[in-house]
Amino acid sequence: MPPDPHTENAADPAQEAARRRTFAIISHPDAGKSTLTESLALHCGAVQEAGHIHGKGDRGSTVSDWMSMEQERGISVTSASMQLEHRGTILNLLDTPGHADFSEDTYRVLAAVDAAVMLVDAAKGLEPQTMKLFAVCRHRGIPIITVINKWDRPGREALELMDEIREQTGLEPTPLTWPVGIAGEFGGFLDRRSGELVTVEPSAGGRHLAREQIRTPDEAAGADVDGWEQSVEESELLSASGADLDRETFQEGITSPVLFAAAVRHIGVPRILDALVELAPSPAPRPDVAGRDRALDEPFSAFTFKVQAGMDPAHRDRLAFIRVCSGVFRRGMTATTARTGKPFAMKYAHLSFGRDRDLTDLAYPGDVVGLVNASALTIGDTLYEAPPVEFPGLPRFAPEHFAVATPADRGRTKQFRRGMEQLESEGVVQVLRSERRGEEIPVLAAVGTMQFDVVEHRLTHEFRSAPRWETLPYGIARRTDEESAAALEAIGGVEVLRRGDGELLALFRDRWHVRGVERTREGLTLEPLVAA
Ligand code: GDP
Repeated sequence: MPPDPHTENAADPAQEAARRRTFAIISHPDAGKSTLTESLALHCGAVQEAGHIHGKGDRGSTVSDWMSMEQERGISVTSASMQLEHRGTILNLLDTPGHADFSEDTYRVLAAVDAAVMLVDAAKGLEPQTMKLFAVCRHRGIPIITVINKWDRPGREALELMDEIREQTGLEPTPLTWPVGIAGEFGGFLDRRSGELVTVEPSAGGRHLAREQIRTPDEAAGADVDGWEQSVEESELLSASGADLDRETFQEGITSPVLFAAAVRHIGVPRILDALVELAPSPAPRPDVAGRDRALDEPFSAFTFKVQAGMDPAHRDRLAFIRVCSGVFRRGMTATTARTGKPFAMKYAHLSFGRDRDLTDLAYPGDVVGLVNASALTIGDTLYEAPPVEFPGLPRFAPEHFAVATPADRGRTKQFRRGMEQLESEGVVQVLRSERRGEEIPVLAAVGTMQFDVVEHRLTHEFRSAPRWETLPYGIARRTDEESAAALEAIGGVEVLRRGDGELLALFRDRWHVRGVERTREGLTLEPLVAA
């Protein structure tokens, strides 16, 4: 019989927090995030064979039922989480959806993690989406472990990639491993801390773990391995320039440990797990709106970082993903929603996939729980067991797509307005207004166009008032203030609007447009928007 969550003995939440690492992978599409996720899961024994988690067309099917459910519905907006265990440490990997469905949700996930793995394609280096996600991590002070992937393919020189990381991110790379042999001939790598040579023998087709062989520096020198001497020399150069691991500056977001990998062959992946266990911070007490920390062993508290409405209007199911901040989550418990003061019963806590049980009975700080029937919750909501606590709301992120939506059928204006209010409160899209356009005709702003698709779908099916779209020719927003607003409004092609959270945003065509205005009109307030 499954244990009863009401009576099951819970462990000490502070101790459980100490053995947890909650992180996300940030990358550009195609860098290998799904492949790495599968490999991590394979190493942790969550799946028997690679190719079964993120079902993607030609590769296996998904482990998670609800993901496939959504695929059937045509629109997938879920960022699921996966729980893995490595060396007694529990790893919560939060998915950052990042392809066509790149949206504000992708950024919001980063509000719920304590560390990030920045996955870089060895041949392509740092790409735009990686840089956008990196900017959010930097803003939030999230420490970053860098993984150079696809080292089994011809790519750039390792040292050149280190320069690029330094120049583009400002992070000081401190490689933990260093490749032996050029990109494309992944013979193995040097473990820079032990000085050992690690050679790897991939399994056929990459379906199983690769076998590692470890040699001492003396053995390596005697083995006549191609590229070994060069690797040792380069590693010494790195040490001479101070590029050795430093845990403190890593956790402060100043340095970034770097590992080389070929996820598709499971090469270098165990060391990524080791680095997460050894270096990534465990969940820390979260400060509330007043700046007071909620200690890990205080009663249960959590915040909602993602709300997903069911796409099927017949089932008004709504999933809310919470991150536990303190205490113990027990399925079936009733917590209070800080915003409304109302009780919320958490009956059907959903799984995070990778676990063998369907439902989460107990969860601890750092864990993610999906709550069904969560129509009373919106993004950023705090849930708690007394004593009360309220965490700061989630930040809004820099929108890059702007459009005006009006009801296609004027007779359904009321439903349309109600729908827009609902979608705004859920954080599905940002809503900007100005006197010039009138209260009734807001501008919708999004990080990814996928957000507009969701608006369209829900207005049409849930509120029965389909929108008509007018895309606006803006591509970038800057934060401004009342003093600068009038001057900005007078400039051709610039529009100033107020967002729901009170921020004044000036919209421009592109960043050259912003630069042009900055050059010719000094003294205007124009600040880049990452997060509020
Ligand atoms: P995602 O878009 O970041 O999730 O990337 P995928 O995991 O889907 O990988 C994109 C492509 O790169 C796929 O064809 C993978 O098989 C391939 N790939 C991923 N990792 C590696 C690697 O280490 N080496 C090589 N050669 N290919 C890889």
